[in-house]
Amino acid sequence: MRALISSTEAPAITRTVAELRQIVRGWRQAGQTIAMVPTMGAVHEGHLSLVREGFKRADRVVATIFVNPTQFAPNEDLANYPRREQQDATLFGSAGTDLIFAPAPQEVYPPGFATRIEPQGPALGLEADFRPHFFGGVATVVAKLLLSCLPDYAMFGEKDYQQLLVVRRVVADLTIPTEIVGAPTIREPDGLALSSRNAYLSPQERAAAPAVYAVLNEAARRIRAGHPIQATLDDGARDLTKAGFREIDYLALRDAATLSPLEQQIQAPMRLLVAAWLGKTRLIDNIPL
Ligand code: AMP
Repeated sequence: MRALISSTEAPAITRTVAELRQIVRGWRQAGQTIAMVPTMGAVHEGHLSLVREGFKRADRVVATIFVNPTQFAPNEDLANYPRREQQDATLFGSAGTDLIFAPAPQEVYPPGFATRIEPQGPALGLEADFRPHFFGGVATVVAKLLLSCLPDYAMFGEKDYQQLLVVRRVVADLTIPTEIVGAPTIREPDGLALSSRNAYLSPQERAAAPAVYAVLNEAARRIRAGHPIQATLDDGARDLTKAGFREIDYLALRDAATLSPLEQQIQAPMRLLVAAWLGKTRLIDNIPL
């Protein structure tokens, strides 16, 4: 494994699958292993932590930047999603990233494209109840990115916990020869999980946003202490509303492995997950329990 380097030089950006495969072939011929970090750009420390995790396992790290149209519904923020490729490239470079794959939409979805993966299992419920198009889009693009590069490892954040489980399921079910690695959520000092969408928050909303993590922790503490689960979750949702959230999509306790709903505590890892709206911004977060 290569030592972490700090560089001010931005890595090369490739836009075609053919060129990505050619570069990766060269690394393979030199006996090197590869980790991929799929992102939608607007890079922050959470993304860079995935690059660093990648270098713990592999010789080379490829980051991808692709704002994937198929995971956005027509009323969502596809057009406004922050795009700042040069800044992203420099940030990825600062963590030692070897190559950036930033395809245009038509490289990923050429004319006539007609195939979509529709994951079930962990892709049902929670996010899917509110964003029914989402995991089909994610599964399709992640499968395509992995098949375009065939990395040894692909790094995903626990910040998007359901997505991590869905990707693991899809990769196992489609026999894609990549190990999916989950990495812990990186947070602001006040507990707010880093997210590209935090840029949408007004100063007032930003001040209210840490309530998400506070509510998760308080609910986890109470559930561990034996308080009834549903009452605890109801109190948590009320606290978010008091903090200024206008709508709580869900605040739920689930089996951490299957995401099955839980009415009582189990002797296996559990996960508390939340999605809630602050003005026009939807924040999601989760913690283990
Ligand atoms: P995105 O660009 O938001 O699609 O995220 C790309 C990857 O970064 C996904 O695997 C996310 O789960 C991960 N990620 C996003 N935010 C964080 C964070 N705060 N900490 C760790 N990983 C994150």
